[in-house]
Amino acid sequence: MLVPFNRIELAGPELDYIREALGETVAGNGRFTQLCQQLLEQSYAGSRVLLTTSCTSALEMAGLLAGLGPGDEVIMPSFTFTSTANAVVLRGGVPVFVDIRPDTQNIDETRIEAAITPRTRAICVVHYAGVGCEMTAIGEIARRHGLTLIEDAAQAIGSTYRGRPLGTFGELSALSFHETKNVISGEGGALIINDPELMDRAEILWEKGTDRVRFRRGLVTKYTWVDVGSSFLPSDITAAFLYSQLQSMEAIIADRLGIWERYHAGLEPLEARGLITRPTVPDGCTTNGHIYYVLLDDANARDRWAAQLAEAGIDAFMHYVPLHSSPAGRRFGRTHGDLAVTDATAGRLLRLPVFPGMTAEQADLVIHAMHAIARGPSVRQLEGSR
Ligand SMILES: *Cc1c(COP(=O)(O)O)cnc(C)c1O
Repeated sequence: MLVPFNRIELAGPELDYIREALGETVAGNGRFTQLCQQLLEQSYAGSRVLLTTSCTSALEMAGLLAGLGPGDEVIMPSFTFTSTANAVVLRGGVPVFVDIRPDTQNIDETRIEAAITPRTRAICVVHYAGVGCEMTAIGEIARRHGLTLIEDAAQAIGSTYRGRPLGTFGELSALSFHETKNVISGEGGALIINDPELMDRAEILWEKGTDRVRFRRGLVTKYTWVDVGSSFLPSDITAAFLYSQLQSMEAIIADRLGIWERYHAGLEPLEARGLITRPTVPDGCTTNGHIYYVLLDDANARDRWAAQLAEAGIDAFMHYVPLHSSPAGRRFGRTHGDLAVTDATAGRLLRLPVFPGMTAEQADLVIHAMHAIARGPSVRQLEGSR
């Protein structure tokens, strides 16, 4: 591929930090874990941050901390990754899928209230492509109905909504450092705990249900089993890698945004001709450039554009199969209202390559290929002429 979809790049001293960690400790909650958590707590002022093995495990911790139990309902979008729903299903709860907005592909805040029942315990929003959901309206709904607000902020590190970082609106928020995300550690994540009442318990669940964190702070003389829990903390090798990435976070995001903005300007003429729709970043939101996507007319058109980009040596991919139409989603969840926008978006959306170290020339190759596809005959016509 001339332009792959994603590539990993070292931000700087990842390998030096791993070597340092090997001389100290490589189990969880070592020096680099502390350093990462401190850096993140500077970005999320007033919050407690715990590194986890993945965003998936951070969401599972959120499910435990929110006290979800059998039959409890959590309202969420269907246009998301399986982990958003699994965290609920693992507690015996029921994901209730509502439709998304056609501009941001985020949960449609006007659909939430009607989906609330006496069994509803929480709302879990997903900031698709690193662009914020309507957090003011959603926060008000959560407060009015006494629901826990959880943010699946897997894609949203560094993005803001009305001047505040995404990840600081819910009682609990989850970040991902999976290799496909902006800031990476292979597999990795973090739980942001914004509700002070949940902070002590979070540390216990994190350390296999023990008070080992308090022991390490010298607050108790021995540690013991005090609550449920699991091994949610990553190795310090992972944290050492992540620390280097977090130190370069601003540069990583600026790089991606440069590509995002180049696409956005370069593809404007195609939108003006009605051939594509570019992503929307609403007033009051900033994006971290995590994903650049376009919407085509329908699934046939999307597949044709993807195939023609592939012929030009460019990887471009669809995204989620909506959870409500997946086998597990049908078994464990239910929908509220029609999910017409979700179904349409799933068929129409095409993600273009964005990765660290991607050059302006590579972005221009993609833009030129898109313009050529807009001008030229379709793949089918090309195949017919061979
Ligand atoms: C990537 C992603 C996840 C899962 O993150 P992991 O760190 O791989 O567990 C969950 N939710 C969303 C919206 C994601 O994009």
